[in-house]
Amino acid sequence: MNATVLLLPGDGIGPEVVAAAEQVLRAVAARFNHNFTFQSALIGGSALRKGLPPLPDDTLDAARTASAVLLGAVGDPEFDKGDSSRRPEAALLGIRRELQLYANLRPARVWPGLEAAGPLKPEVLAGTDMLVVRELTGGLYYGEPRGIAPDGRSAVNTMSYTRPEIERIARRAFDAARTRRKRVTSVDKANVLEVSRLWRAVVTDVANDYPDVTLDHMLVDACAMKLALAPASFDVILTENLFGDILSDEAGAIVGSLGLLPSASLGAGTSLFEPVHGSAPDIAGKDIANPIGAIASAAMLLRHALSLNDEASTVERAIARTLSAGRGTRDVFPANPVGTREMAASIAAGI
Ligand code: NAD
Repeated sequence: MNATVLLLPGDGIGPEVVAAAEQVLRAVAARFNHNFTFQSALIGGSALRKGLPPLPDDTLDAARTASAVLLGAVGDPEFDKGDSSRRPEAALLGIRRELQLYANLRPARVWPGLEAAGPLKPEVLAGTDMLVVRELTGGLYYGEPRGIAPDGRSAVNTMSYTRPEIERIARRAFDAARTRRKRVTSVDKANVLEVSRLWRAVVTDVANDYPDVTLDHMLVDACAMKLALAPASFDVILTENLFGDILSDEAGAIVGSLGLLPSASLGAGTSLFEPVHGSAPDIAGKDIANPIGAIASAAMLLRHALSLNDEASTVERAIARTLSAGRGTRDVFPANPVGTREMAASIAAGI
């Protein structure tokens, strides 16, 4: 297969973890006879430093024409005091909006050898392997009216969803469930919110097209509790923007380090893949960042953008083998860590 992957290394540890993911993708191309072309563009602080906006037009144009985008992270303390449009993070919202990335997929699984790395008892965590499918461009974060009253005594945000918005994210969740254990848990607050009642009705309608997938509904408060008590009971969690924001962080926290977590943001055009973590300026340039979030994001890129499922599974198995051999960065194996570059080389060698 021929594919063009646009790399957006960004700031802080972004370039280190993207280089690791690129090394693994090159190993995949060599082993499976694919022709991947890698392009690179500026985003965030790395663009601001060159006098460009955080999301330069050239970067956006390259993203629109690429087969997929792999982003490291943005965020640089040097620009923290700038106005919000000149902050590195403005690039993230910009690229999500411009590429209309309405579906955010965040898997959280316990990797072999890391059962004790998280805050839960290993026997509670055992077998945890879930995917949070979060709606990314609607709901409370975008609804109108919004704002603080001129007298500063009240404020409003609006949670609103249309049937087509719910339908398209629900289909993403059911499609994903078909490639997994075929269970969708739709999370809402239908006992209180009308928006949730519409959400529940539309998801139930969509489920009719997926008779092979089991659907259940759960209130968001119950889901938050069950994530901590029985995380292994979930397969796909489908939910709206705000609930997904909170629950996906909770799901990530229970499996251990932030550095392990990948994500995919999908829309109608080019998809974007990025580790969940930020630019981690505290550890940048020290060869200690965990590259697994970025490498697992590259696996998601192979699966979701290029439909290369065997290749994606090969990457995930190589990650698992490296970890179960006791090789990991400082955040997961503090007693006997290896560096970012050595982790990348070990995983690439396992392809
Ligand atoms: P962060 O995710 O960068 O770091 C939080 C903590 O986790 C730090 O202690 C860091 O050292 C550690 N950490 C993060 N990634 C790691 C990895 N791969 N391996 C080992 N340890 C890792 O969050 P923060 O410190 O709140 O934010 C730093 C900057 O990143 C800010 O400018 C913020 O706005 C930005 N940010 C960007 C994104 C993104 O690009 N998607 C996401 C979150 C934060």
